[in-house]
Amino acid sequence: MVLLNPRPPWCAAGVPPAASALSGDALFLLAGVCLAGFLLWRTASRRNGRIRRIRETLEDMSHGLLRSRVYDSSPDEIGELARAVNALGTFVEEQIDHSCNESRKLGSIIDGMIEGVLAVSGTDKLLLLNAAAERMLGLRSEAVAGCYFWQVLRIPAVLELVEFCRTREAPMTREITLASPGQRDRILEVHASKLEFEGSTRPGAVLVLHDISTLRRLETARKDFVANASHELKTPLMALRGFLETIRTDGDMPEETRNRFLERMSGNCDRLDALVDSLLQLTRMESPEAQGPFRPVDFGKVAEESHRGFREEAEKKGIDLELMIPPGDLEIPGDEEALRCMLDNLLSNAVRYTDPGGWVRLSASEEGDFLTVTVEDSGIGIPPEHLPRIFERFFRVDPARSRGLGGSGLGLSIVKHVADLHGGTVDCESRPGEGSRFLVRLPRTSGRNRTASDCVQPKRPEM
Ligand code: ADP
Repeated sequence: MVLLNPRPPWCAAGVPPAASALSGDALFLLAGVCLAGFLLWRTASRRNGRIRRIRETLEDMSHGLLRSRVYDSSPDEIGELARAVNALGTFVEEQIDHSCNESRKLGSIIDGMIEGVLAVSGTDKLLLLNAAAERMLGLRSEAVAGCYFWQVLRIPAVLELVEFCRTREAPMTREITLASPGQRDRILEVHASKLEFEGSTRPGAVLVLHDISTLRRLETARKDFVANASHELKTPLMALRGFLETIRTDGDMPEETRNRFLERMSGNCDRLDALVDSLLQLTRMESPEAQGPFRPVDFGKVAEESHRGFREEAEKKGIDLELMIPPGDLEIPGDEEALRCMLDNLLSNAVRYTDPGGWVRLSASEEGDFLTVTVEDSGIGIPPEHLPRIFERFFRVDPARSRGLGGSGLGLSIVKHVADLHGGTVDCESRPGEGSRFLVRLPRTSGRNRTASDCVQPKRPEM
């Protein structure tokens, strides 16, 4: 029988001897190759994984996750790369923290400034508005954030200044007045400088605003004061010069006329004297260096002395001048000379503006923590519309009458200064034709509580 497809002889017996010896080596080799391949693959995939983690960490960092780190402590090159990436992350994080702190610090400084600060970008957008600028311009940062500055600042002078300063190297300054209904005008000094931005073709601007309203008001008050004082001084001086010239040039002047002129000259000298005294008193009250230290003052004694000083004048005018102070001492800490000056001014006004037959009363009492001093009169009184202004310098209800009676227009402003100096207050109640009552309250530190009812109270005028 012929086999069509005879099987090799070694098939029947399994593996031929030579082949079976070979196949053992091949298998061993194959296994070695597989193992090597597997080890290579494993090493490569671990290496890729480590590199991928580094890449992912870098991607995290580039998206702002600066705390992202690679955990790879191997001593090889990839480990070193991981440590370098971590160090870079730490460095960038520290730098950003530092610059955040710096910008927070800068923000607090800018917000704490008395001056207003406002910054505008090259595209006219509002970049910064500090708290002072918000107050001065009546704006709120949150409401105007991202707006164009010309949408919120509709002040032509400021808009012009921003445009001008962009074209100049040196800063520019302008004074602007902001009128707000029902309130005093606000005067601002605006300094504008160019603000350059990297990569921007058009510069921005930074404005620094100083509120100089108080300064301007003080300047006006000072100018008014100088003008008023010069006018007050000039009037009696001119009168003196006139009388002097007349007496000098008229050799035949009758004795009687000359004496009358001399009397008028003496009156003008008294007026000048009183005015200069008032000016000196006011200067003393306004300059703390010129004032003596506070000492315990026996206010009862000061009131008695002041009262005594006006007794003769009141008697001459037929005015009943009363003094009502409780027994014992009324001691307060203060400046004795200033307190005497305050009482003199109040009493001199009361006697001056009270017609013959009237009365003037000075009383003092302790009320709680205060010493209350009252000067009342039954005089001409003050119309209500003038009451808010009577403590202003040189204010007079009736200038001609006040001048005629020797008033300087400074008496009540001195009284107000003395009350302020002692931490006290002064108020006035008055009715035309019925009289006036000036009430001064001064803080006291010691003494038992006494009230005006401890002494006999005469009838007070109804006001
Ligand atoms: P003057 O030197 O003109 O009296 P003051 O400052 O002392 O200046 O007072 C201001 C104005 O207040 C006076 O011109 C006067 O019109 C008014 N005045 C002050 N005290 C009295 C008073 N006791 N009675 C009426 N008017 C007064």
